[in-house]
Amino acid sequence: MASQQQQRPQQARQQQEQQQYHHHHHQPAWSPASWRSKPIKQSPAYPDQQKLAKAVGELSRLPPLVHPNEILALKAHLRDVAHGKAFLLQGGDCAELFDYCQQDAIESKIKLLLQMSVVLIWGTNKRVVRIGRMAGQYAKPRSSATEVVDGREIPSFRGDILNGYHVDERDIDPGRLLKAYHLSGATLNYIRAAIASGIADLHRPLDWGLGHVKDPVLKEKYSAIASSIQQTLRFLQVINARPGELETVEFFTSHEGLLLEYEQPLTRLLEKPPKARAPTPTSRTPSPTPPRASADDDDDASESKQEYYDTSAHFIWIGDRTRQLDHAHVEFFRGIANPIGIKVGPTTPTSDLLDLLRTLNPACEPGKITLITRYGAGKVAELLPQHIRAVEDSEYRRCVVWQCDPMHGNTLSTPSGIKTRRFNDIYRELQESLRIHKEQGSYLGGVHLELTGDAVTECLGGSEGLDEDDLSTNYTSFCDPRLNEKQALELAFLVADHFSR
Ligand code: PEP
Ligand code: MN
Repeated sequence: MASQQQQRPQQARQQQEQQQYHHHHHQPAWSPASWRSKPIKQSPAYPDQQKLAKAVGELSRLPPLVHPNEILALKAHLRDVAHGKAFLLQGGDCAELFDYCQQDAIESKIKLLLQMSVVLIWGTNKRVVRIGRMAGQYAKPRSSATEVVDGREIPSFRGDILNGYHVDERDIDPGRLLKAYHLSGATLNYIRAAIASGIADLHRPLDWGLGHVKDPVLKEKYSAIASSIQQTLRFLQVINARPGELETVEFFTSHEGLLLEYEQPLTRLLEKPPKARAPTPTSRTPSPTPPRASADDDDDASESKQEYYDTSAHFIWIGDRTRQLDHAHVEFFRGIANPIGIKVGPTTPTSDLLDLLRTLNPACEPGKITLITRYGAGKVAELLPQHIRAVEDSEYRRCVVWQCDPMHGNTLSTPSGIKTRRFNDIYRELQESLRIHKEQGSYLGGVHLELTGDAVTECLGGSEGLDEDDLSTNYTSFCDPRLNEKQALELAFLVADHFSR
């Protein structure tokens, strides 16, 4: 243990650095707990405060789930996306369940995201940054606090981190916060293990399987890309070019930063790593060209500096329902060094957009903020251009990552009450977003999708032509309807075709 003498200068330095930080950014003092003095939306009423305090105390003792080096590596990649040099693929379940912490479920999602990246790399000629909505996507905002099931009004399911989907498990249990931490850890561990063991080996893209993809055209298109990659690889092997790098990829995790009682204890004041070292989170071979820390950084490279990192995931985002400027979520997010996302929708006033950027990224760090736009196919043409102009004509020009979430503006209910989405609407919003960004001279740098590696029947249409009666065949989502493997790949081809034209 460190002696008191060693601790004091350390604490004094921390304090001094904090003051400098706030002086530099001209904002009121921030701490991991400062959100508690603000109004908050979507906040649960915990029935047992003592149990909550115990869970939070334990969370604050447990080790970080991810390392600052990885968080900064992702931020550097996202800077490249903001500058149009890379493409961001983010996807996973709407609500991850504790039950999904299983080998098959984890592997099939990784494989699907890898397949999509192969298509995207081929089409865009850019590096692809992959972020899973995985290893922590357990908290859900709800439009109503209760719902009626079998004539009985019960609390809504708020995600496995708070209560269970089963009607008998709807009471909030703070013990679930700890379970969420441990299952995030187990999921992340298996992601790291699978990737370190070669699941992403580019020599074998056909082994990733197109399990459920029966569509001959789609299969043909993918196989053509995969075998062309294999030919190129054989050539590279012949000339002995950088063999180690093809066997691995980087993979990052994300979730909605909704439950601040969970995020706060995992937020730690940690040393900002020196510039030269930002290893890849999941690679078994060290990258020969590690991503450098921000070139726009104004601090001395040799001087260590501490920052607050939310170590629950590499990337967290603010949901559509919790992005009020003077509320708790924006307050919490403004103090962490992670790259973050903001959902942007039909209810986002253009002026709010700039206020949010100025509050959350006062230093104008490129790649710090991803704007996740989700208007709906019918509204995107009217709303996206004005949002693009507001941002790109401001000091944030080329600073944000523009990412299209074609899912959340297109949710509907069938007459029989099943939550679904039309694949056509999803496709159209993405297509329109690509077109509008091109027209506006900005760069659509990413997609944000709800998807699963299983052959689910949750979204209507697609080339299988699923109709309302088909939805019951394999509808397993406990929240929003997800794209199946085939529908997801079709979207990857849409993006690839757009950029290769
Ligand atoms: C989500 O991403 O699952 C979600 C709830 O989205 P939004 O906040 O955009 O509605
Ligand atoms: Mn969702």
